[in-house]
Order: sequence, then structure tokens, then C-alpha cells
Amino acid sequence: MKAVVFSEQGSTEVLQYTDVPKPTLNANEVLVKVEACAVNYLDLHARRNRPEIAEKFERGETPHILGSDIAGTIAEIGDTARGVVVGDRVVLAPCIPCGVCSDCHGGAENLCDTQELIGFQTNGGYAEYVKAPAQNAIQLPEALSFVNAAAMPIAYLTAWHMLMTRAQLRPGEDILILGVGGGVGSAGLQIAKLIGARVFATASSDAKLARAGEMGADATINYKDIDFSEAVLDATDGRGVDVVLEHVGAATWDQSIASLAKNGRLVSCGVTTGNMGTLNIRKLYQKQLTVMGSALGTVTELRTLVHLAGREKLVPIIDRTLPLHRAGEAHLLLENRQNFGKVVLIKA
Ligand SMILES: [Zn+2]
Repeated sequence: MKAVVFSEQGSTEVLQYTDVPKPTLNANEVLVKVEACAVNYLDLHARRNRPEIAEKFERGETPHILGSDIAGTIAEIGDTARGVVVGDRVVLAPCIPCGVCSDCHGGAENLCDTQELIGFQTNGGYAEYVKAPAQNAIQLPEALSFVNAAAMPIAYLTAWHMLMTRAQLRPGEDILILGVGGGVGSAGLQIAKLIGARVFATASSDAKLARAGEMGADATINYKDIDFSEAVLDATDGRGVDVVLEHVGAATWDQSIASLAKNGRLVSCGVTTGNMGTLNIRKLYQKQLTVMGSALGTVTELRTLVHLAGREKLVPIIDRTLPLHRAGEAHLLLENRQNFGKVVLIKA
């Protein structure tokens, strides 16, 4: 089968469109003919320097195939695989949990210590075919296209788990969403509007903020020009927001905390600018703040999201599609932050 592979880390030059053997199935697995595979920042980090990939190469496991957000058609079924049949249109839940630990049994498989991410620990969807456990395959409603489905798993699952399960955002509340031009930010905006929150959104360009406004953001803030916490406090008569969706890390931490109202909740899923932040403990207790983490989400949550997208309650933002062999170009678009929404690879 055709695939985009790499056997050493580096620039986009290491990506090669070539022939590799089709995956062979274990009994509990299904083979998916890939129709669409979205590109994530993690793909870029994996290609460049993530140690997990370097260790895989040191063990002699080459080449690697990226791609965690996959939609396609079931092509083959393992002997004990259940729940789907050949020809079903599916999207794949991106994580493969162990299925036997206490977190997995408790329905919180996103906390499983030994889970593997498709396209990171295993070979992924930059290929004609990919394999996955049958329970990862979620059937698609007719109205949901392969491209829109592939744009959903990581971004929407992350945003949904943050806002609905962790922060428990409620109708009428105020939320501040950082980096609204990114996958998690734009998904968070749609989810927050769906449940009736008032959304303040930040981005670094006026063009991205204009798009956020078209998507329903109630107020937009260009964080390049100003301290966004001051803008938030001004816009809320000094009150602040009930929830902050934080995924930037060190660079925005102080401003994010300062943007919170009494009883405010900050929920974080990422640290693209650094891991360490400080916290004024007196303000934490006086304002009864909550700071919480969030890590991807569960298969059950992804099923809910697919259902909502099938009814067009959530509509993924697609920047563009590119044929699989142009995966390097897709990486450069993300690297240079030229995209608004997802870049999705499709079969040539
Ligand atoms: Zn587990």
C-alpha cells in the first residue's frame, strides 16, 4: 500500500511517499481503508524530535507512519472483532487503552497509564490502510463526511472533555478561550456556543479574530497588543470569566488566572510555551478558584460528538484538504500557522 513514512527525524524532507506492506490484523482488530486523516501539531513534533519516536527508531522499528485523526471504511475484520462490518463508514477513537486497569474499568480510559495513541506509538493514518482495535471504530452518521469526521477526534474530544466533563460549563456563563484559531480553540468556541455560554476569544491576528466573530464569539481580543486579562476585566465590569480554556502554558498563565471571576475554573490541556507557572495561593482561596487539568477524552464522549456533528450541531472548521502525498506541505502550513481550522489529508 502507499503511505507517507519516515525513518529518521528532521524537517519535512524526511517524509517519503512510498510503498509499504499492508498491516496484518490481530484477532480483535479491524483494517480501515483511510479516506481522510487530519494533521495535528503532535505529528510535527513526532517528525522533528519527540523522544518516543527516536526510541522507536533505536529499537529498529522503522519506518513510522503518522496520523491520529482517521476516518475511512472498514475493509477487513479480525476473527474476534465485533461491532462493525466490512463497508461501514467509521471514525477511529485515537487512543488504544489497555482495557484492564482500574481507570479503564472506571470509564476513564483517557487516564490509562499504558494507553497508546494511534499514529504515535503505533502506525497511523498517513496511509492507504490502518489497523486498530474494533472498539476504536465509531460508525458515522450519513450526514457526516469523512473529511469532517477526521477533523474531530483530537481537537473536539479535548475541548469537550475540558468544558463539559471537567469545567462543567453552564448556559449563561462567561468563558475565555485562548488561541481560538487552533483546533482545540475553535472546537471549544463551537461547544461553548452550543450550550449557551458567552465567549471571549483571543488570537494573535485580526483575521483569525474576524473568523471567530463569524463563528459566534461574543468578544475578541488580539493578545499581541494588550494584556488580555485587563481586556476581559474591562468587558465584564471587573468581574472576570467563569471558565478559562487554557492550552498555551507559561506565557499566558498569569493572565489566565487573573481573568477568572470568583468561583472561576481554569482548565488546562497543554503547555506549548512551557510547563511552569506560579499561583498566588491567597487569591486562590479568597476567590474560591479551581485549577484543573484535562487529558484528551473517552470513546463515549467521542460517540456523543459524532452524534452532534451528524446533526450539524457541531461543524468542524476545515482549512483545506490535500492529497496524502503532499503531507509535507500540510506540515509546513501548520508550522507557519497559516491555517484556520484543520488541514486534512485525503487519498489521492
Ligand atoms: Zn488501562
